[in-house]
Amino acid sequence: MPKLKYLDLRKKIISTCLRMNSEGINQGTSGNVSARTDEGFLITASGIPYATMKPEHVVEMDLHGGYRGDFLPSTEWRMHMDIFRDRPEAGAIVHTLSIYATALACLRKDIPAFHYMIGVAGGTSLKVSDYAEFGTQELSNAMLKALEGRTACLLGNHGQICFGPDLYKAIGLAREIETLCQQYWAASLAGNPVELTGEQMSSVLSRFKTYGKQPDQLREGAAHAVFAPERRDVAKTVKRKR
Ligand SMILES: [Zn+2]
Repeated sequence: MPKLKYLDLRKKIISTCLRMNSEGINQGTSGNVSARTDEGFLITASGIPYATMKPEHVVEMDLHGGYRGDFLPSTEWRMHMDIFRDRPEAGAIVHTLSIYATALACLRKDIPAFHYMIGVAGGTSLKVSDYAEFGTQELSNAMLKALEGRTACLLGNHGQICFGPDLYKAIGLAREIETLCQQYWAASLAGNPVELTGEQMSSVLSRFKTYGKQPDQLREGAAHAVFAPERRDVAKTVKRKR
């Protein structure tokens, strides 16, 4: 058998699927995961349980609807392909039917800025797409619209989808979206959540550009955005992988 291309990336996709389920943000094989390659992307195969999924079950696709190998890609390949085509910054995609995100997606209402972390997906709200049947171009089109200016959205009567520069960031965002949906659910049960203003959210969004970064990862002059405390010792040169 010829050596599998992108073996490490295939293994990372499988471990991301297993994490999705062990962290409780997906059930069974309803979710799917993909990562960009030089030629297109790799995506989980259709209907193979994650526990028995092997690197050869991860399917190679191009950006024009073609695949290679003996296994059919996830029925949701179209949404993944369209994100990789439309959003050059996307390196990996996670789609899950996590409980709270899916429950709120069934209400077909955008999640407002009830909490500043809503800005984690790049907008002042989390949008929910119109409903369209799974695997269709209509669903993909509705998703792209809800993703405009954002890296995550809810899919009407379906679930959530999000992307990041890599698999680690993409699954982290999926977890964050699920947490926000659970918090919104709880706040809405307790009363009427007070929404943040447009001004408050635009300040948060500008600071999020530097959120979670270390000094060597900050662009010059951006340190104020994290309200950094004053460093007392002398900095040594830190080499960090970018
Ligand atoms: Zn789906």
